[in-house]
Amino acid sequence: MRCTDFDQRWRELSEEAMTGVKEWRLQHPRASLTEIEVAIDERLSKVRARMVQDAALASDQTDWSEAPAAERPRCPTCERPLRSAGSQTRQVQTQGGHEVALSRKYGVCPECGAGFFPPR
Ligand SMILES: [Zn+2]
Repeated sequence: MRCTDFDQRWRELSEEAMTGVKEWRLQHPRASLTEIEVAIDERLSKVRARMVQDAALASDQTDWSEAPAAERPRCPTCERPLRSAGSQTRQVQTQGGHEVALSRKYGVCPECGAGFFPPR
C-alpha cells in the first residue's frame, strides 16, 4: 500500500469537500440543521467512497499471478499453489450511493480445478 499517494489524493478530496460546505453555507445562510447535515453528508460521501475504493484496492495491489509458486495463494483443499485466471472487477455501491470499482485476482487450483478469489 503506497500511503503517500493516498495521503495526497485524500487530502485534496477532503479539502474540496470542506470548501464545498463553506461555499454552500454562504449561499444558504438560512439553512436548517437538517439541510446543513444533508449538504455535508453529500460532500463527505464522495470522499468516503474514494477512501473505501483506495483502501480496498490496496490489499489487492500485490499481484501474485507473476509470483513464484511458493509465494502464491494455495488451494485450501489440495494445498497446491493457484494458477492465475485473470481478474474480475465488480461495481459496488457504498452507503453514500457512490459507485466504486473493486478488482480482484481470480485463481484456479491446478489439482482439483476449484476457483477462488484468494483473500490478500
Ligand atoms: Zn485444489
